[in-house]
Amino acid sequence: MNSKTCLSLGCSNIKDFFNNINKGEKYADLIELRLDYIKNIDEEILTELLKNKKKPSIITCRLKKEGGKFEGEEEKRFELLNRAMALGCDYLDIEYSASEKTGTELLKNKKKTKIICSWHNFKETPSIEEMEKIYRKIKKLNPDLIKIVTRANSINDNFKIFEFLKNKKDLISFSMGIKGQISRILAPKYGSLLTYGSINSDKTTADGQITIDDLKKVYNIDMINENTGILGVIGSYAENSLSRYIHNTNFRKQHLNYIYIPFKIDPAELPEFMINFRKFSFAGAAVTIPHKIEIMKYMDKIEDIAKKIGAVNTVVNREGKLAGYNTDYTGAIKALEEKISLENKKALVLGAGGASRAICYALKEKGLDFVIANRTLKKAESLAKELNVKFCSLQDINKYDYHIVINSTAAGMYPDTESSIIDKKYLKGKIVFDMVYRPMITKMLREGKEMGATIVEGYLMLLYQGIRQYKLWTGKEPDVELSKRVLFKQLKIINT
Ligand code: NAP
Repeated sequence: MNSKTCLSLGCSNIKDFFNNINKGEKYADLIELRLDYIKNIDEEILTELLKNKKKPSIITCRLKKEGGKFEGEEEKRFELLNRAMALGCDYLDIEYSASEKTGTELLKNKKKTKIICSWHNFKETPSIEEMEKIYRKIKKLNPDLIKIVTRANSINDNFKIFEFLKNKKDLISFSMGIKGQISRILAPKYGSLLTYGSINSDKTTADGQITIDDLKKVYNIDMINENTGILGVIGSYAENSLSRYIHNTNFRKQHLNYIYIPFKIDPAELPEFMINFRKFSFAGAAVTIPHKIEIMKYMDKIEDIAKKIGAVNTVVNREGKLAGYNTDYTGAIKALEEKISLENKKALVLGAGGASRAICYALKEKGLDFVIANRTLKKAESLAKELNVKFCSLQDINKYDYHIVINSTAAGMYPDTESSIIDKKYLKGKIVFDMVYRPMITKMLREGKEMGATIVEGYLMLLYQGIRQYKLWTGKEPDVELSKRVLFKQLKIINT
């Protein structure tokens, strides 16, 4: 069988099962019916379930020690599974550690049903050698398919699974846990025959399971094949990034064979991840907090402005050579220029952190006169000296003349939505750009509007920096209007 998507269903009663089977059959290629979730499961219920499903099914009934919920006698489990085969179920999943009788008898009794012999490790991902040993042991039993599922405690555990999958034709393998999520999306690329999804995020049957809806609609799972180029966002909280919605929608629309996924990576995992990134020829990455500076040491080449800004937020893999870029600065300028002309304008930049460095270098390049104000004066001073511009404390901004006010601090960002670091009287008739995009209209933008200012929302910067990334990775222009709509939709979801 080619790589397929399986909806894993665990419901406590048959009514819920039927409701979800109907919903899930639209998206999934197969349905796994977890009998162990049904209280008082018996042969009558099983018959009812198998009679009504339209898609091929996998019947699974796991004991507690196998990560399941079945509490009955082993004899009863054997009878249920045997009955499922007699009723013509397509696949039966039996844990390798099941009793001698359950395992061998079921294998002996099988007719049309294909047997998946599975092995789970809920604590860790063992070495590849260890997994090979387990695979060989299971193979001796002669099942139709072998399933080996581990827990990823680090993003780098996923690469053991990808390596292990190589050159095997009968294997389903991926990792559990939030750190294992990339393998649930990418395992099909490396040869896993199945990946599993849940009906919704609070009805998972295993830790880290992604919904079938997201696998299909957000991650384009049906488009993934061995040639798919891997892109993603490297960050400690990469799962919060909205870019996957924008990029994957464009890949689907433009029939580009790429996938963009969150790489949730802590600082300690980064060195090994970058070795794997090269080894597995990932196509590129966006980089976010806290890795924008650290990532620079893994680049073979860095564009000049990113070097000056001192941060890389985009990596492009060009035939094994990694090139680093900064698209925050182009995104910020594009957002401003969409609303106003920068010619002969003076600016006040609030903040002296990473985002401030990007906008300040961009303003300098555009030839603007500007002043940097920051809570920690020393940081404003140091950045201002680098750029040969003025600096001041947040209390002294009234001493300067400016047309544009830019907030590059985190003030006003969710959950601190009722704060703004500038009194609204200083916004009167100005151009007010707030880099914060959550909420979409911050207190500073709201007050700017009240004072007759032209406002520039932070989401535009986010959009335009992502658009340049897309071009750097694929050489193609994404659909800007579509991207804007997708971003808007996601921002509305997180802001309500
Ligand atoms: P950063 O390097 O940590 O810098 C944070 C800056 O904010 C520093 O200047 C800090 O002042 C100041 N700050 C934080 N809280 C403050 C407060 N309550 N009052 C006054 N100043 C405060 O962070 P960053 O990467 O530059 O990000 C800053 C903001 O820009 C974030 O909200 C981020 O979401 C946003 N951003 C948006 C985009 C986009 O695409 N729209 C892109 C990048 C960043 P001190 O130096 O005194 O600590």
